[in-house]
Amino acid sequence: MNIKQRLEGCLIAGAIGDALGFRYENIDYVLNVGFDFNWAVSDDTQLTLATCEAIGDDIEIRPEKVAERFLNWYNSGKLIGLGSSTLKALRELQVGGHWAIVGRSGEYAGGNGAAMRIAPLAFKKYATRLKIKDICTITHRNDEAYCGALAIYYAIKASIIEAWTGDNNLIDFVVEKIPDTRVRDRLIEMGKLKDLSISEIGKIYKSTGYVVDSVPLAIFAAQKINESDFKTIITDLIKLGGDTDTVCSMFGQITGTLKGVDMIPVEFIEKFNYLDIAPLVYEMVDKWKE
Ligand SMILES: [Mg+2]
Repeated sequence: MNIKQRLEGCLIAGAIGDALGFRYENIDYVLNVGFDFNWAVSDDTQLTLATCEAIGDDIEIRPEKVAERFLNWYNSGKLIGLGSSTLKALRELQVGGHWAIVGRSGEYAGGNGAAMRIAPLAFKKYATRLKIKDICTITHRNDEAYCGALAIYYAIKASIIEAWTGDNNLIDFVVEKIPDTRVRDRLIEMGKLKDLSISEIGKIYKSTGYVVDSVPLAIFAAQKINESDFKTIITDLIKLGGDTDTVCSMFGQITGTLKGVDMIPVEFIEKFNYLDIAPLVYEMVDKWKE
């Protein structure tokens, strides 16, 4: 698979995970998960695409350009389901704030909002850690939020270079790469429990809007892709409740990168193609410069 096919898998599976999870966000104890409703994607996909627009046709990654695209989407009134840290940053960007200082800091800035939109950076040749941090900083000036994003970045990188094949251990690969944080601690704990099912792990660690809860869960779920399948895992993740759109989206991004669009059921691809963002996804993939 070439890099564009992997990017296509990442963006489409991520968007489908978002659309399916968004329908069930913060509904606990979902008994019957159905997929036949009017699909819509939320901020996870929208800000990932805004990031693609900002970095896709440039070798260099420019945080000021990413911030500008975020603001553009915000000003168009299209963004759906924004978290409080991202909303704060966008409002301050709107009145002329600088990208490096508008992001929220402190303990409440440990949300999923940086990790959920970091994926495109893994498809660039020259994404340094400093750049990754800068891109996170636009909305989240918090070490956990950054390390959560770094964990997603490396999970996707492992899929691109096939350091992870779906059979070996993805968690170990990521743990080795990221700094000592609560995100890393949770990954280590989950790595020891890798034989548990998704419903079993969900009884121990709840899925919430906190990056420590969501990012490791998405990576844990991705590890199941060869023993299960995309649709079944999305269903299992939705049943856990919590921040289902973000967890399902990040799970989709990682596994879509590894497997490409072929892993996605045809009826899902058909529904995806009706989404308003679908043409933009295909355009971004087409234009992509590594
Ligand atoms: Mg969302």
